[in-house]
Amino acid sequence: MSALFPELVDPSDDRPALRVGPDALTYAELARAAGALAGRIGGAGRVAVWATPTARTAVAVVAALLAGVPAVPLNPRTGRRELAHILGDSTPDLVLAGPEDELPAGLAALPRVDVELTGPDAPPKPATVDPETTALVVYTSGTTGPPKGVLLSRRAVAASLDALAEAWSWTADDVLVHALPLFHVHGLVLGILGPLRRGGEVRHLGAFSVEGVGRELGDGGTVLFGVPTMYHRIADALEEDTGLTAALAGARLLVSGSAALPVHDHERIAAATGRTVVERYGMSETLMNTSVRPGGEPRPGSVGTPLAGVDLRLVDEDGSVLEELDGETVGEVQVRGPNLFSGYLNRPDATAAAFDGDWFRTGDMAVREADGGVRLVGRKATDLIKSGGYKIGAGEIENALLDHPGVREAAVTGEPDPDLGERIVAWVVPQDREEPPNDKELADHVAGLLAPHKRPRVVRYLDALPRNDMGKILKKALVETG
Ligand code: ATP
Ligand code: MG
Repeated sequence: MSALFPELVDPSDDRPALRVGPDALTYAELARAAGALAGRIGGAGRVAVWATPTARTAVAVVAALLAGVPAVPLNPRTGRRELAHILGDSTPDLVLAGPEDELPAGLAALPRVDVELTGPDAPPKPATVDPETTALVVYTSGTTGPPKGVLLSRRAVAASLDALAEAWSWTADDVLVHALPLFHVHGLVLGILGPLRRGGEVRHLGAFSVEGVGRELGDGGTVLFGVPTMYHRIADALEEDTGLTAALAGARLLVSGSAALPVHDHERIAAATGRTVVERYGMSETLMNTSVRPGGEPRPGSVGTPLAGVDLRLVDEDGSVLEELDGETVGEVQVRGPNLFSGYLNRPDATAAAFDGDWFRTGDMAVREADGGVRLVGRKATDLIKSGGYKIGAGEIENALLDHPGVREAAVTGEPDPDLGERIVAWVVPQDREEPPNDKELADHVAGLLAPHKRPRVVRYLDALPRNDMGKILKKALVETG
């Protein structure tokens, strides 16, 4: 486990390792290309990786792992100010990029090393590296505030990938298909390092398309990873595309994460393909915490039970541990285990505030069900609405709104109200822009499905919801537009 990679990136292994867009590499080719690059960056303190959705990004990250140098994957679409923040915070010694990539001014000052997809037959031997060494500095999505640099050790990455492999029976025979960005945990750690650690293959589409998903799953792909916005588009296409339906029905495992998959999309996919999308729950700081186990009872809205090695508890506002497994008592999720990060870069204050002893405070609110299954209610900061003496999770109201035929997308927030403390606001993207559903009808629909106190008091119509690169709804931006 300590090595994390070298035992898998074998210069004599001719099996396919990865294909990203047009570029395909076997394990031997990956070992040569990454080995050669590792030889050029050894000794650096940290390296930035210009993380385009290309095979070069995978080669660059594997090279950094072989050299034992922490890699800082950068989102190529990051704006100037955020990029300056990340570079100033992480102070990389050099940047790894494709020869043809045009780097923004903020990066031009750094020495640049071009990533090539080829290397000598006998690349330098990988360094021997302590498992506690930082493998990656991943910046959080910035959904709730400025991105923080999360220090992920080689040990944490290996532990989390192995726990997922156990939960999903993930092996060298699996061919993973996805189109996720390569600068976050989901796409990079799970989506690239995951298959490489298992010795299987990954096919990245370069850019997401429903056609690409259908093509690759129909041509040997066994596992699909996606975020809810991708599954939503797949669900839309299933109605007309029989090839896609057959491809999904034939896959071994369909996994969704990074945000809640609406119940409505779960149901549409299950109805068309007979397959249940498996949800897993994790974050940059903890890698993966829980997952639904494939083959169990379909339970839309559940993120499953803790993975091997992960301890999980719910804690109330006074810090008392909640023991209830009633599916109703809401508490903050805290986790501990070998999957946890080593701290935020340069933020001892934020690191200290994030822990309760050795338990990490996730900031996510949840309930637990009789079998220990976790159902996320939303984020403490933005998704818990305190209205009329009740604590109401935004998620179930969003699901109820999405159940209405006139609603295409929905988000729910709270805003100050003199009587209720906070009132429930529904932000709705209608199916038909010309004829949005009526406010009262929508509010009645929610109250009828859930409870009268969960009725939205205000409905606002939009053309689109503000989302980040992972498709996460930016609720702070929503509230600011209100
Ligand atoms: P920031 O911490 O900068 O505000 P972020 O929390 O969105 O950004 P990430 O670490 O990428 O950054 O995302 C982790 C969060 O994503 C979790 O805390 C949780 O709120 C959400 N999440 C992940 N998986 C799921 C899931 N299956 N269902 C619902 N929410 C999920
Ligand atoms: Mg977070």
